Amino acid sequence: NASRLLGKTVLVTGASSGIGAATAILFAKGGANLILLARRADALKAIADACTTAHKESGVQQGGKVATIQLDVSDKAQVSGLLDKIPAELRAIDVLVNNAGYVLGVERVGEIAASDIEGMFATNVLGLISVTQLFIKDFKQRNTGHVINIGSIAGREAYAGGSIYCATKHAVSAFTGSLMRELVDTSIRVTEIQPGMVETEFSVIRFRGNKAAADKVYEGLHPLTAEDIAEEIVWAASRPPHVNLAEVFVLPVNQA
Ligand code: NDP
Repeated sequence: NASRLLGKTVLVTGASSGIGAATAILFAKGGANLILLARRADALKAIADACTTAHKESGVQQGGKVATIQLDVSDKAQVSGLLDKIPAELRAIDVLVNNAGYVLGVERVGEIAASDIEGMFATNVLGLISVTQLFIKDFKQRNTGHVINIGSIAGREAYAGGSIYCATKHAVSAFTGSLMRELVDTSIRVTEIQPGMVETEFSVIRFRGNKAAADKVYEGLHPLTAEDIAEEIVWAASRPPHVNLAEVFVLPVNQA
């Protein structure tokens, strides 16, 4: 029910492309205010403009607010200064979408660079945890809020050449499960979305910019789109307040 989104404030990390960008625009179509976070300021500005257009097209001319904040979730100092950067009228957020994340490389365990290991953990795990910590206190004080973490099929399974990414997404899954159980006697909801293959910049980053190798992954498959995952996220956020979609595992029809 789209009316449950009207006037809500949603913060999306990794909103400059892919799943995060599509999610922001879909929330805007439902009349939600948006706070968009990522490292690339220009890309964020383009998504913010798309959200403003979505607000207008859905008749939310007034009151539909969009803020962009250039932020690296893996940088502890930047995360601890985040609340001060959020415009005062948007500081009480309703939905936190922890989406920023990536996989870099397909090397086997002996060959992975320490900097790649640290980078993936710093963003996918520590970044997600520190952003969550920042808002959970306020959620508890107001006894409301929804944390939506983007896990992965890689958080349910493990495959050769994906050791670090799989470990980070298993960590996301464990953290999300603990958080949900810690909050069981509150009205705060906690959801984990676990996508299979989604065609975004993700695959190009994984193959370090080699587009041909990135595209090969999808051969013979009809991968999910960022919009497919955005629909699941917005669906979870727009359930009645007593309904918590704890886990949503979404695959392309030909992926098992
Ligand atoms: P994209 O590469 O298109 O999007 C990733 C987003 O994360 C970008 O907006 C990027 O923005 C942001 N980001 C990356 N690192 C940081 C950082 N340190 N600080 C802030 N923002 C950051 O890929 P997807 O949309 O596919 O990925 C989104 C999420 O979905 C990830 O968590 C990914 O693991 C997960 N996922 C993806 C799947 C897929 O097949 N595509 C499958 C399963 C899960 P910027 O570079 O501007 O900072």
